[in-house]
Amino acid sequence: MARELNVIQPSSSGGSDACTYMWACAICDENESCQKDKEGHSRWLVAKRMERIEYKVLIMSNKGGVGKSTCTTNLAVSLALKGWHVGICDMDIHGPNIPKMVGAEGQKLKISTSGGIIPFQAYNLKIASMSFLLQNPDDPIIWRDAYKYEFINQLLGGVEWQDLNFLFIDLPPGTGNESVTTIDLLGNVSGAVIITTPQEVALLDSRKSVTFCKDSEVPIIGIVENMSGLECPHCHKDIEVFRKGGGEASANDMGVPFLGRIPLDPDVVMQSDAGEPFAMFNSDTATAECYHNIANQIEAFCKKSGSLIKVAPRHAPH
Ligand code: ADP
Repeated sequence: MARELNVIQPSSSGGSDACTYMWACAICDENESCQKDKEGHSRWLVAKRMERIEYKVLIMSNKGGVGKSTCTTNLAVSLALKGWHVGICDMDIHGPNIPKMVGAEGQKLKISTSGGIIPFQAYNLKIASMSFLLQNPDDPIIWRDAYKYEFINQLLGGVEWQDLNFLFIDLPPGTGNESVTTIDLLGNVSGAVIITTPQEVALLDSRKSVTFCKDSEVPIIGIVENMSGLECPHCHKDIEVFRKGGGEASANDMGVPFLGRIPLDPDVVMQSDAGEPFAMFNSDTATAECYHNIANQIEAFCKKSGSLIKVAPRHAPH
């Protein structure tokens, strides 16, 4: 019987090398002869979980509030609608918003009989997030880097992701510790999608994300220009709230693919706040078409780059 997980406890062993993942022995064939220390064991566990996932896609931005989590949710939904097994790993420790966007706010994760964390399921997505571990959603997370390292390990290695075609990893804004640690632990990232808005200040930051990916040897799938123009509901004229075209110019400038624009659409806000992913509930609208189109490009990029494993989809993808 699964039991409820309240809080992920950072290791109490301080700087010791002792392995604190004893429960993971249940999925190890070599538990009798295991000589791994804590670091070796946690890396082994992440590798073990990740070897059942065909493609790992990072969603990043250097600036907060540009729509990274909204894009992650809707792009993941688009691929799930096509029939793929999709997961979302919400790595944004300080602003974990994915559960809210899929109507799972206040939910708690459960622990399986083998000790792994069972991801939350919504809209055919498997989701794990810091938000599921908070007693009170208003609590701020004030953690030192060692705790964050432990949490990232748990989210990648502790969660029973099982077989997935795509795992979307929603990174926190910036190029700090969480992003570096995630890339290091994954080892083999299929690619990164960089979200920006069209105005200068966001573009400046998106260029930093491009450089960060290049330096980290993460393939860049492309740049998405979010909040790109608002259609006036009265006269239907395009209002360039955050300007327009900057994302594409920036992509050309940096020599990386441009994946497309998503308009500033008030219905996206309403649906996100209601926990109903826009790309699912308004699937045949022009804005949803933008998400579907970008998701198709992510899929094509991943398939082209190939994977060591093959996971059967839920149904024949269309
Ligand atoms: P980030 O993850 O980059 O911090 P979020 O995804 O949380 O950003 O989005 C910030 C806010 O912008 C949310 O209120 C979200 O609903 C809204 N938003 C995101 N994309 C769009 C869009 N294309 N149109 C309208 N609102 C959007």
